[in-house]
Amino acid sequence: MEPQVTTFPGTEFTSRGPVEAGLAGDKPREECGVFGVFGDRDAAGMTYCGLMALQHRGQESAGIAVGDGERVRVRKGMGLVSEVFEVEQVKTLRGHIAVGHVRYSTTGTSLLANAQPLLIKYRLGRLALAHNGNLTNAAGLRHDLEEQGSIFQTTADTEVIAHLVARASGHGFEESVVTALGSITGAFALVMMSQDTLVGARDAYGIRPLSIGKVGSAYILASETCAIDAVGGEHIRDVEPGEAVFIDRSGMRSLQALERKGDALCVFEYIYFARPDSDLRDLNVHAVRKELGRRLARAYPVEADLVTGVPDSSVSAASGYAEEARIPYEMGLVKNRYIGRTFIQPSQSMREFDVKLKLNPLRRVLSQKRVVLVDDSIVRGTTSKYIVQLLRDAGAAEVHLRISSPPYRSSCYYGIDTSATKELIASAKSVEQVREYVGADTLGYLPVKELLDTVGRSAAGHCLACFTGEYPVPVPEGTCKYLFEEGGHHDPT
Ligand code: SF4
Repeated sequence: MEPQVTTFPGTEFTSRGPVEAGLAGDKPREECGVFGVFGDRDAAGMTYCGLMALQHRGQESAGIAVGDGERVRVRKGMGLVSEVFEVEQVKTLRGHIAVGHVRYSTTGTSLLANAQPLLIKYRLGRLALAHNGNLTNAAGLRHDLEEQGSIFQTTADTEVIAHLVARASGHGFEESVVTALGSITGAFALVMMSQDTLVGARDAYGIRPLSIGKVGSAYILASETCAIDAVGGEHIRDVEPGEAVFIDRSGMRSLQALERKGDALCVFEYIYFARPDSDLRDLNVHAVRKELGRRLARAYPVEADLVTGVPDSSVSAASGYAEEARIPYEMGLVKNRYIGRTFIQPSQSMREFDVKLKLNPLRRVLSQKRVVLVDDSIVRGTTSKYIVQLLRDAGAAEVHLRISSPPYRSSCYYGIDTSATKELIASAKSVEQVREYVGADTLGYLPVKELLDTVGRSAAGHCLACFTGEYPVPVPEGTCKYLFEEGGHHDPT
C-alpha cells in the first residue's frame, strides 16, 4: 500500500523511492509534458495513454485530474505513469474531461507537493492546472500575492497562475483565465480545466509546444503530437503563441489572450527533447534530426569506417550523417532500456557500474575501426568524455565526435533543467579545448546557420538562447527554478 497524503480536497498522492542520476544527468532535461481531453467518456483512460506517450518529458511525477461536470478529482504521485497508476485505479476516475501531467524536477523534499495537476477550490468551483515551462516573473507575482495574504502550498510557479485565476474570478471563468495569463511572463504551455471547460494556452512567444487534436468528437491537447497519435487521434493544429482555446460542450473557441510577441519555439525540442515521431510546426522531428546529421556531414567530413549514434536521441542524426558521408551506419552502442529511473545501486561500490549498465559498446563492431560518433549535444562534457573512452576501450582506432547542434553555452530559463552556465563546457572552453577534454580525435559542432536552415526559420522564429545567449523573454536577475525552495538558493549563472 502506498503512503497517502491529502492536501487539496480530492487530491491523492502516492510516493516512490529515490531517483537515479547517472547518464542522463549530463543532458538538459525537459521539465514537463501536458495532456488534456474534452468529450470522451473515458477521459482519464485517454489521458493515461497520452501521458505514457509523453513519459520522456518527465519521469519523476505524474498526475491526472478528471471531471464529470460536477466534481473534479486528482490522482498523482512520484514516479513513472505506470508506477503512479494501476489500470484498475484509472478505471475508477470517471468523467469526460481530464488534464494530465508528467514532471521532471530536482526540488528534493518538496517534489511530492509539486506534483501536478494542481487542484484548487475557489469561488467558481474547482480548477485543475498542468504547466510545462517556467514563468520569469513568478517571484515578483508570488511576493505580491503573499503580501496580500495569499497562502501557497507548493514551491512551483504553477500555483501563482492558480491564485491569479482565482483572484480574477469575479468576471467569469474565461475572463479570469485571460486576466491571469495577462499577468504572467516567460514560457508556458498550460492545460487547465474547470468542472466543465478544458483550456489550453501558450505564452506570447510560443516557447513550449502545445498541439490540438481530435479523436471522434473529443478534443485533445498535448505537448507533442506523438501523444495524439497514441490515443488514435488526428493532429489538427498547434495552439498559437499567445492563444487560449476554451473547449466545452459547445465546441472550441479561440481567443488571442496575449499579444503575440513573436515565434520562439524552443529549437532544442527538435534537437533532443521531442520524440522522433512527433511533428513540430508540421516538421517531423526524425526528419529534422536526419537533415541536421546530413548538414553536419557536409560541414565536418572525415574519413572513417563507420558512423554510430548515441542512443536514442542521436540515432536519427547519425543515420543522416552516414547517408550523406556514404559511410556505413553501425550500432556501436547498446542502451539498456530496462534499468528505469527507480534503479537503486545496492552499494556505493556498485555506483560506478551505473553508466556501464546503461550503455555498452559493441566490441566486434568497433574494434580497429575509425568511428564517427554522433551526439545531439555536449552539456558539461562528462558523458561525452566517458563515451569516447568507452569506444576506445572497445578497440576503436579513432573517434571523431560530431554534435548535431551548436555549442551549448547558456542556461535555459524557460522550463528546461540545465547545468548552471559556468558548468557548461562550451561556455568557457574553445572547440579545441572541448575536444581535448572529451578525448576525441576531432570534434565538429553544427553551425547555427545550418540549424536554422533546417528548421526553415530565421533566428527570430525560434528560441536559440542556449546557443546564442539571446533570450527572447528577458530573464530577471537571480531567476532560478529553486527560487521558492526554503533555503534552496541556487546560482543560475
Ligand atoms: Fe530551448 Fe535553449 Fe531556448 Fe531553453 S534556451 S527554450 S533549451 S532553445
